[in-house]
Amino acid sequence: MPMSIYTELADYIDQIYENPYRIPHDESRPFVKIFRRLLSEEDVKAAMKLDDHGITAVEFASKTGFSQVKAEKILDRLVKKGISFATYKKDVTFYQLAPFCSGILDFLLKDGLDAEIAQYIQDYVDEINEFINRPERKKTAVRSVPINVSVSAVPYHASFNEVLSYIEKGSIYSVSDCLCRSAKEKLGRGCGHTIKDICIQIGPYAEFYIRTGRGRPISRQEVIEVLKKSEAEGLFHEIVKPQNNESSYFVCSCCTCCCIAARTVIPGVVSRIESTSIYIAQVDADKCTGCCGCIDSCPVSAIDMETSRIAINPSRCIGCGICTFFCTSQAVSIIKKG
Ligand code: SF4
Ligand code: SF4
Ligand code: SF4
Repeated sequence: MPMSIYTELADYIDQIYENPYRIPHDESRPFVKIFRRLLSEEDVKAAMKLDDHGITAVEFASKTGFSQVKAEKILDRLVKKGISFATYKKDVTFYQLAPFCSGILDFLLKDGLDAEIAQYIQDYVDEINEFINRPERKKTAVRSVPINVSVSAVPYHASFNEVLSYIEKGSIYSVSDCLCRSAKEKLGRGCGHTIKDICIQIGPYAEFYIRTGRGRPISRQEVIEVLKKSEAEGLFHEIVKPQNNESSYFVCSCCTCCCIAARTVIPGVVSRIESTSIYIAQVDADKCTGCCGCIDSCPVSAIDMETSRIAINPSRCIGCGICTFFCTSQAVSIIKKG
């Protein structure tokens, strides 16, 4: 089948962001289908004039030959559709091409998400898992962080600081709904975990979310409250660093049933790759009564009973700390990997 402008755009984004799971796109690939659904020919041609460096509407106009008014109109449309990410310095807006994830996928939440797009997102998860099981796979940029209140072997403040250190990297914060759970819900397969106001953005991504109506501004204190509320729900946090912005972070509160990042990085859930967490659970054999109360709590099935002893599988454990909530004997703790 000849290449369409949509496959060209998908290949172009892979090339710009050096996607480690890159294979040439064709019409069957999820992002090509998403682009075909959402973008006009003019949108695609304009998007291919952008790259991973922000440019102003004036620069875009001189690059494309459009009038400045038309350039602004097209760029704003690309931002609205989630193909372009914008940063803001004083009164000037800088536009760049967004990466697939975190980026275009996440930006779909505001206007682009319906059942058809939600299905393409699930297809994307399947596709990524097929890729990351290939021998040439690379490590992910996602890392889980233990839930604060569960840490004992690591001093409480160390865990708190782990999360806080990311929060402190920014001076602006936003909160948005959870894309992954929204997408599953659109398909009638929602998991019941909180969707509304749970994903945190920090730094330039927060400003982008606020200015484009994808999120609402919140204070640092409110960020901490959102995180604590999600911990109480048994969700675990993931820090996601967008590829195109050094000073932005997502702090997500995830479940393994829906989270795209978790479903593509957690061993034993969908695919088997090494955990990137720097934390791991540890069982104190002297305190453990062998009640098995922790086994079913583990979102990645990392706990098992082996010859009458509870064992943590180190290649599966993501150090989320959820099991510590379920151990009434305080026999499980979270430690930093050696
Ligand atoms: S990464 Fe986690 S919190 Fe963020 S959108 Fe996905 S499931 Fe929701
Ligand atoms: S054993 Fe399971 S629940 Fe406990 S920290 Fe590891 S991944 Fe989380
Ligand atoms: S819940 Fe605690 S005491 Fe019970 S098996 Fe697990 S670690 Fe041991």
